Amino acid sequence: MAVPQPDPALLDKLALANRILYHQNVVDGFGHISVRHDQSDAHFLLACNRAPGLVSASDIQVYDMQGEPVDPHAQRSYLERFIHSEIYKARPDVMAVVHSHSQSVIPFGVTGQRLRPIFHMSGFLGSGSALFEIRDAAGDTDLLIRDARLGKALAESLAHHHCVLMRGHGSTTVGPSIELAVYRAIYAEVNAKLQLQAAALGPVNFLNEQEAMLAAAATEGQIVRAWDLWRAGVDSLAGPLPKHDIEESP
Ligand code: MN
Repeated sequence: MAVPQPDPALLDKLALANRILYHQNVVDGFGHISVRHDQSDAHFLLACNRAPGLVSASDIQVYDMQGEPVDPHAQRSYLERFIHSEIYKARPDVMAVVHSHSQSVIPFGVTGQRLRPIFHMSGFLGSGSALFEIRDAAGDTDLLIRDARLGKALAESLAHHHCVLMRGHGSTTVGPSIELAVYRAIYAEVNAKLQLQAAALGPVNFLNEQEAMLAAAATEGQIVRAWDLWRAGVDSLAGPLPKHDIEESP
């Protein structure tokens, strides 16, 4: 059965989200964001293998829950698309997924420490981020989520959390909308920076679980203001470049 066409406005929003994440230093040449298909819970939208800062609506492809593009003539896919497919399968509440290698988060994963909410903007961290150890799932690897089995293991580590650290690799953040997944990815990175600074000074008094829940409800209810600002920043970026024939990369 043919998969319905996604809402063109959703394609535009996902392309914008790609550029916002680049502009906010969450992604660089690598990393990606997806959104669940608005017409089918069993499909999601993800750009072809292109740097997020260069993604346009025309680069976005429809994927199934096996992590494969629906179009047999699709352009080359991101290697780590199974991060997205397996999280959508495991978490019906998740509508958008961001995967990045944002730098300040890396020290936490490699020391087995979790991100914890250090200020009200990161209440979504709750009692702390989840932590994924790929060695437990697959022994020695190149750290990349190359197949559905690794994606499933990552989704199991994420469990009910909104953010999972991936040891020696990066992190993945989820949300009930593109805007919230982007917000959480940006503030996971901000929280990591602040948590590193605070820990150098002494024991940290984090938000407790109740404070985190209240703060998340307050801040995440008004992210339109931040989204509009991020969008304005993106408007200064250059448009899409011609497509290149490049080797597959994560
Ligand atoms: Mn990656």
